[in-house]
Amino acid sequence: MPGFEVFGKEEKQQILEVLDTGVLFRYEFAEKRQGIYKVAEFEKQFAAYCGCRYAQAVSSGTAALRVAMAALGISPGDEVITQGFTFVATWEAILDAGAVPVFAEIDESLTMDPKDLEEKITSRTRAIIPVHMLGAPARIDAIMAVADKHGIPVIEDTAQACGATFKGRRLGTFGAMGIFSFDPVKTITTGEGGMIITDDEGLYRNCSEYHDHGHDHNPDLDRGLEGRRFIGFNYRMGELQGAIGLAQLAKLDDIIARQKEHKAAIRAALENVKGMTFRDVPDPNGDTATFLAFFLPDGPTAKAFNTALSEHQAGAIYFGNNTWHVYSKWEHLHGGLTLCRTGWPFKRGELGPNVSFPTDALPRTRAVFDRLLVFPIPVHMDADRRRSILSAIEAAAGVVA
Ligand SMILES: *Cc1c(COP(=O)(O)O)cnc(C)c1O
Repeated sequence: MPGFEVFGKEEKQQILEVLDTGVLFRYEFAEKRQGIYKVAEFEKQFAAYCGCRYAQAVSSGTAALRVAMAALGISPGDEVITQGFTFVATWEAILDAGAVPVFAEIDESLTMDPKDLEEKITSRTRAIIPVHMLGAPARIDAIMAVADKHGIPVIEDTAQACGATFKGRRLGTFGAMGIFSFDPVKTITTGEGGMIITDDEGLYRNCSEYHDHGHDHNPDLDRGLEGRRFIGFNYRMGELQGAIGLAQLAKLDDIIARQKEHKAAIRAALENVKGMTFRDVPDPNGDTATFLAFFLPDGPTAKAFNTALSEHQAGAIYFGNNTWHVYSKWEHLHGGLTLCRTGWPFKRGELGPNVSFPTDALPRTRAVFDRLLVFPIPVHMDADRRRSILSAIEAAAGVVA
């Protein structure tokens, strides 16, 4: 599944080029760096790979979400709709912008249900963040149709689906902006890192300046003399990460091709299991195949099937136990737990009504999770390992027959 599996001599070579100059910072040091600009080059190649005009590298996927929202002008009291199945980072970034996360249900695509999205739009909705979970596309055409009808910008959280497409077009290029993560378990990794892509020059400039303390990046001035249009922050990526990103990006298509092959073999074996259904992937060709998600008719059957798989050393992940990615398990959100002395962002004082997030607010998402099993698909899987997984599936099929 992740880029760490393919970390090798290409990454080391890239890192050495940076170490040879000693310039770890993406800006400045024009003479010392001998023309080496790894982060800028990574941005350029990433934009070309996605088929978009601009890419802005940042320090993490969470930072990418935060910077994208800043670029859109998201403000305290605004509502931002995302989905009840995502990593906590998505709504942490919304809360950090002072905005209120609103959670839409997922369906069997394991991503945002476009009908529930439309029901959750209010006069305060200022952005929509669909999340392309587990390597495959959301119903991005239907989601964009709802967003466009209401004139609300979309930020695609593509952290888990780098390289994926929908009908031949890269994910992340449908909305006003797309964000990516290169953390240690993502499809390509830079250790920590993220990217924002867009075709909109104004949004790109906002991202570029906001992520670097407001520096206007005037090419004719020394950095110390640059101007500022607004207050920013520091979410910069460093040269070592940019260097690793270049080596990893060059391997992305090969990673995806290998995963697709492994996934197809395991999926074919699962098709013989009684009562088995698969995640509804809106465009299977666009899947990066980092995961294989499937359902059994109910929770107890899913658990029994997985116990049998585990007894044959091929256990899947039972998502009914997942605590980091599903709304019903986020006790710190439900409890309004915050370090802020005033209770912000749950208690909003004069900035608006308090907000709360009841545990049972997304029953359909929870029901989908109770029946869900997921195989992570590795990049490297030898013939022996594949055979042992296939025979484990055959044995476990007996439990549900
Ligand atoms: C990993 C992830 C992020 C955050 O990325 P980091 O680089 O770890 O900050 C955001 N959204 C989703 C869906 C993720 O899986």
